[in-house]
Amino acid sequence: MPQLDEKLDPIYREVLRRNPAEEEFHQAVREVLDSLGPVVAKNPHYTDAAVIERICEPERQIIFRVPWVDDSGAVQINRGFRVEFNSALGPYKGGLRFHPSVNLGIIKFLGFEQIFKNSLTGMPIGGAKGGSDFDPKGKSELEIMRFCQSFMTELYRHLGEYTDVPAGDIGVGGREIGYLFGQYKRITNRYESGVLTGKGLTWGGSQVRREATGYGAVFFVDEMLRTRHQSLEGKRVVVSGSGNVAIYAIEKVRQLGGTVVACSDSDGYVVDEKGIDLELLKEIKEVRRERVSDYAEARGHDAHYVQGGRVWDVPCDVALPSATQNELNAHDAKTLVSNGCVVVAEGANMPTTPDAVQVLQEAGVLFAPGKAANAGGVATSALEMQQNASRDSWSFEHTEERLSEIMRGIHDRCAETAEEYGVPGNYVVGANIAGFIQVADAMLALGVI
Ligand code: NDP
Repeated sequence: MPQLDEKLDPIYREVLRRNPAEEEFHQAVREVLDSLGPVVAKNPHYTDAAVIERICEPERQIIFRVPWVDDSGAVQINRGFRVEFNSALGPYKGGLRFHPSVNLGIIKFLGFEQIFKNSLTGMPIGGAKGGSDFDPKGKSELEIMRFCQSFMTELYRHLGEYTDVPAGDIGVGGREIGYLFGQYKRITNRYESGVLTGKGLTWGGSQVRREATGYGAVFFVDEMLRTRHQSLEGKRVVVSGSGNVAIYAIEKVRQLGGTVVACSDSDGYVVDEKGIDLELLKEIKEVRRERVSDYAEARGHDAHYVQGGRVWDVPCDVALPSATQNELNAHDAKTLVSNGCVVVAEGANMPTTPDAVQVLQEAGVLFAPGKAANAGGVATSALEMQQNASRDSWSFEHTEERLSEIMRGIHDRCAETAEEYGVPGNYVVGANIAGFIQVADAMLALGVI
């Protein structure tokens, strides 16, 4: 790892000391601080006013018990989290993750990244993240509902359209947002649509929100390829995961002329040389809630399934890690490079390990960090909030056009900032600096709070 700037090193050490054993949080902070050396050299007022120390300390962290009764009548206990990280730019905004791997460090890493991502969108939203170590896999419909109701029975007091506005993430899709919103409405006796995003289209949701993260990531890839006078037309693409982000990334790649030849879940991956059959994948994942192994079985001879293994072994021009953190390591990065991959864009949050990012960048691969490439989801959530506030609902075409403009804007801000700081084409540095400056300036303006 490169040496940190001498002003930033003590800040990072303090983060390590105050947040022991939160490795993913350390990794996320380190990645941002690694980019900020030239910024603090140019603008000493950021360090004088302890802006960076403050940005690394969440404004509020809520941890709560979530008791619920399973179908056999047994009482189950999970832990709920909401980390309200930074509200300098607007109400706290960020998703909820339900996955057994969730702990405070994971939520803090996600909340920290969210600050810069939300800033990059240019929309008035602060950064937060939440969730639970609840595992939705194998739970009945009623168990999911009871869990969501119990979770919201505590969380509701911390939310509000001007305070904190959650959305989905891993394990939290339209179904869960429905149960969460229903319970919020019941407890507060208010139809406060703007308190959650990712809602259904008939009860306050926005067109394109479901598609937004995947579509947005592919729009970003398109912009990156354009800088090299290329396009997605004819490109072979590999996507990891097969959830919300992955499915709609596959859809947009197909619309733009590329072919997605592989996708995965936590058990294994499927290769389908003719291109993933999207209708079948949606049926299996969104309707039947089954596995990619079931997709392979249903496809018969056209596809083959690899249990375990690494989806990055499948040769491709473009790789879109869209499952979870640290799922693409340096070994995978070397495989991608040797197979001729030209673009890696993070649909997921922090899926690429720091040494893998280094391998890709040194090999000249265009690399887009999640806080830029997957910002389309939260940006469209902000569009949902706009529609809720004005009691309006926009068409699919209009909303998609807004999303594509926003992604182009984020791409250009990252690229211009990287250029300005002497590292053209380095989207990591561009995203971190552009995201940071906007939040830091707002924090300075608001005083020591
Ligand atoms: P989903 O729950 O819809 O899908 C997650 C997918 O990733 C599933 O295929 C899942 O497989 C796989 N996955 C999850 N955990 C692991 C793991 N530990 N190892 C291997 N595979 C895993 O989530 P989303 O698609 O919404 O989220 C995916 C990523 O995108 C996350 O990093 C999330 O933070 C990020 N993101 C999501 C946004 C959104 O709008 N939804 C916005 C911005 C970022 P399995 O079924 O086997 O668990």
